[in-house]
Amino acid sequence: MIGFDADDTLWENEVFFHQAQMKFIELHPHIKDPEELILQIEKENIKFYGYGIKGFILSLLEASVRFSNNQPNFQNIDKIINIGKDMLAQNIQLLPEVEETLRHLSEHYMLIMITKGDLLDQRRKVERSGLLKYFSSTEIVSEKDEQTYLEILEKYNISPQDFLMVGNSLKSDVLPVRNIGGTGIYIPHKFTWKNEEVESTFDLERVVELQTISALKVWLKNEI
Ligand SMILES: [Mg+2]
Repeated sequence: MIGFDADDTLWENEVFFHQAQMKFIELHPHIKDPEELILQIEKENIKFYGYGIKGFILSLLEASVRFSNNQPNFQNIDKIINIGKDMLAQNIQLLPEVEETLRHLSEHYMLIMITKGDLLDQRRKVERSGLLKYFSSTEIVSEKDEQTYLEILEKYNISPQDFLMVGNSLKSDVLPVRNIGGTGIYIPHKFTWKNEEVESTFDLERVVELQTISALKVWLKNEI
């Protein structure tokens, strides 16, 4: 069984957060070190809102209000709300060679999509992606840690040794799967959220780095 992360593994995602953050910074030139501030507020808020666009926009609103000297700029508030709605309406942009790779692999393996975030938004993206036909199922989870992966494997009655997980986050896709005895396939993406970054540890067993998703076909042919 092969698990695929979705955001920034199958389609573009983080780049839209990056663009939204740039718009926020343009609207708030008085905030010093805004990237660091936004990351800090987002991290504090994960326990309240989880991952996804809605939580991100609430964090931007909080940053805007917090640094307004008790005089919130309602035009900026309105603009931030609209930035969020535009993000939620954004079309899916598949990454190169995703569809043909999934088509090929789905003929030989059971594929499941494992993505974390806001249920409504993730479901909307999965449905619009046109990729559902290649997957046996989709798991939308609130956190991707060892426990989550063990529960998913138990549900499908698959042992960790027979499981590969493919994704762009070492923290969420690769290391927890490797830690439970599966294999993590790391495919880096140019934009990865700072909260997903960990020290690279590529001397680890059962962790493989590939540069593109299509390299997976070749790797599987050689390894298995
Ligand atoms: Mg990802």
